[in-house]
Amino acid sequence: MKNFICTTCGTQYPLSKHPPSKCTICNEERQYVNPNGQCWTTLNEMIESKKFHNEILFEENGLYSITTKPEFGIGQTAYFVQQNGFGLIWDCVAYLDEQTLTSLAKLGKCNGSLPPSLLFNAGRMGGKVKHPDLYS
Ligand SMILES: [Zn+2]
Repeated sequence: MKNFICTTCGTQYPLSKHPPSKCTICNEERQYVNPNGQCWTTLNEMIESKKFHNEILFEENGLYSITTKPEFGIGQTAYFVQQNGFGLIWDCVAYLDEQTLTSLAKLGKCNGSLPPSLLFNAGRMGGKVKHPDLYS
């Protein structure tokens, strides 16, 4: 069972034995299907490829951007907002590795590391997806 990720838009799907037949997001009229055909990966494949990392940049007091390098999906940028010891991730990136989670936990003053699926409402960290059509 794997959580497949669409390589075109970066959307991650629920656990399944086989990749979905199509990506719901890419088949929506505002997006596009990869002209080379539907392609899938998983977070583990991305981590094991050692091709990706997340760049966490200080934007302004209490605000950091999180961007996957090299660009993946539609080049999403997530934001980590800090205030009064509370950390909130606004929007999302498909690639979340242990190094990113550790860095965010330190910024959010959380203890330990958090698996990606627990970033939402875990401890004193919270998450919010900005667009309803992006839910990876
Ligand atoms: Zn897609």
